[in-house]
Amino acid sequence: MPKVTYTSHLGMVDILPDESPKWRALEHIIHDEAARFNFEEIRTPIMEQTELIKRGVGQLTDIVTKEIFAFTKGENNYVLRPELTAPVVRSYVQHHLDQRGGSQKLYYIGPMFRAERPQKGRQRQFHQFGVEIIGSDSPVADVECIAFMMRIYQRIGIKNFNLKLNSVGDPESCDTYKDVLREYLLPNLSKLSKLSQKRFRKNPMRILDSKEPEDQEYIKNAPVISDHLNEESKNHFKQVCYMLDSLEIKYTLDPLLVRGLDYYTRTAFELTSPDLGSQDALAGGGRYDLLVEEIGGNPTPAVGFAAGIERLFIACEELNITLAEPKSVDVFIVSLGEAARKWALGTLPVFREKGFSATMDYLGRSMRAQMKDANRENARFALIVGDNELEEDKFNLRDMENSSETLLSLKEILSVISGS
Ligand code: AMP
Repeated sequence: MPKVTYTSHLGMVDILPDESPKWRALEHIIHDEAARFNFEEIRTPIMEQTELIKRGVGQLTDIVTKEIFAFTKGENNYVLRPELTAPVVRSYVQHHLDQRGGSQKLYYIGPMFRAERPQKGRQRQFHQFGVEIIGSDSPVADVECIAFMMRIYQRIGIKNFNLKLNSVGDPESCDTYKDVLREYLLPNLSKLSKLSQKRFRKNPMRILDSKEPEDQEYIKNAPVISDHLNEESKNHFKQVCYMLDSLEIKYTLDPLLVRGLDYYTRTAFELTSPDLGSQDALAGGGRYDLLVEEIGGNPTPAVGFAAGIERLFIACEELNITLAEPKSVDVFIVSLGEAARKWALGTLPVFREKGFSATMDYLGRSMRAQMKDANRENARFALIVGDNELEEDKFNLRDMENSSETLLSLKEILSVISGS
């Protein structure tokens, strides 16, 4: 019978043992910074109702029209979550988190799923971390959200990026602007891409986000939203800019930035990196004051961002930033003979209980092979035990860095390892 082998799905990648330390290092940084900002972690299911994502992300977005992994089972429609803002808001409404009082400052880390064409920096299962501040209308919330995002990159050592900022206005400004935009686009409507023609009625602002070549000429000369913000939106945006200035967070204003999702209002931002290739977006976010009500809650303002973890790692690679130390183990017990192996198995817990990492050979191999293993495992010390050592109750401790060997009792070994 021919041997059958299996591979992971296209665009869905394994995080292998050599890579997981950097994931843990990053996750540690995110948890640590989140605690400093007083954000609380939220974890929601991987699958949601398809209807929630359609409503929450927007019927005409690329995500919903082309990229969701959805299926039906029995009566239920399931979708693998393509982003987490709608699910977090769903959870906020479902569990009445508003009743905890104040604004809810939430953060998350986890996998997302989009059926995109895989390429460098674009996967079908990828990971994001992000923040949602629900319940505050204040520009302070926008700025804290951006400050947290920037802080993560700063702490990692990624300094070279472009924070693009825009305001897409409140619903009133948006309606005025949409009319202005439709009026401008109407004479050339038939020359726009099919997708843009479809978006023209319901959400012409998304046309500004189009990558279709035939749309570019019209996008370039389009009227910009900043000329059509009402006083309130203008004021809110001014304060966001002013506070970012005072925190010395640099940004550029980009009047064409509308972001890919339907529910954004007022502040919109995107962080790009020149160290990434064509997929240069590190993170994006903004205000979504209409979403909570859209998915069944009371009108509640909110702001958030989502950042791609794989993209962050690509930037780290380009910049030669290592997030985690190479793996190592404190003690590798090299055991020769049955009795020594038994002793080794019984002694591992002594080290582990003291907080050291310790391992041994499982294959009963030669001394040479075991020493090679200890080297490969990057052991600090090799503890060598055979029948003689057992008899004398003294063991050879080899310092793997300087190759010195000393005959010591277990008690002495523990104090050497502890550095005392
Ligand atoms: P979005 O939810 O589309 O605003 O995406 C936020 C961030 O997630 C982007 O800036 C990227 O860094 C990352 N991202 C989005 N889609 C993908 C993908 N298919 N593969 C890898 N990262 C992605």
